[in-house]
Formats: sequence, structure tokens, C-alpha cells
Amino acid sequence: MHKISHIGIAVESLEKWIPFYRDTLGFPFLGEELVESEKVRVAFFQIGESRIELLEPVDDTSAIAKHIQKRGEGFHHIAYEVENIHQSISSLQKKGVSLINEEPKEGAHQSLIAFLHPSSTGKVLTELCQSQSQED
Ligand code: ZN
Repeated sequence: MHKISHIGIAVESLEKWIPFYRDTLGFPFLGEELVESEKVRVAFFQIGESRIELLEPVDDTSAIAKHIQKRGEGFHHIAYEVENIHQSISSLQKKGVSLINEEPKEGAHQSLIAFLHPSSTGKVLTELCQSQSQED
């Protein structure tokens, strides 16, 4: 793990919150993407070498929808950039960490992602993220 890839924030509406990050805080807006596997629309902003990721549920079955119902909008997860996600998963498993995704799945920007189980992380939802492209 060599940097914070992004911080995920759950929102009810991207349209409502994009102006705050883009215009009020002045972070470069990197665009939006639908992530089918997570049933979310995502908007990205650059901040230093990391990003802010706003997550809007596309329907009520999305984990983000459930998060918002339970806890409201706000901090959702932290993601650490890894070089090799398969290696990171097996090394963490050997150290006794339990994972929600024992196999990586596709995230935004063709990245590979896997979530650690909050029971192993002091309740902080933690994502491993292996970027596929370095263009951003
Ligand atoms: Zn994420």
C-alpha cells in the first residue's frame, strides 16, 4: 500500500453535491461513472495524489442506499492503492484479516477492488484498489 487512492462519501444526489466539491472547495472534477457491480453512480474529484469519490445509489438494493437509510449521508469508505491486489489479499488473509471480497471485482475506471470486512478494521470500511490505468 503506497497511498490513499480515494475516500468514498455516500450522497443521495450527485447533482446536489458536485457543486460543493467542484466550485466551493475548488477540486478538479474528473467526471462521473456508473459502476454496475455496486449499483452506484460515482463522481470523482482530484485532491493531491488522491481522490474524493461521491457515491449515489441507483436503486434501493445498492449497499450505498442501505448505508444512507441507516446512517444518512457522509463518510463511507477509505481506499488504499495497492500494486498487486491478489498479493495484498492473500497477505492480509495470512495475517488474519477477513475480507468481504476474497476475489477482486471491477470498480470504477477498470480498477480492481476488494473490501476488507469492518470487523477486522475497527469498523472503518476499507477498500483495496489496484488501478489499471495511470492516465488520471
Ligand atoms: Zn471506493
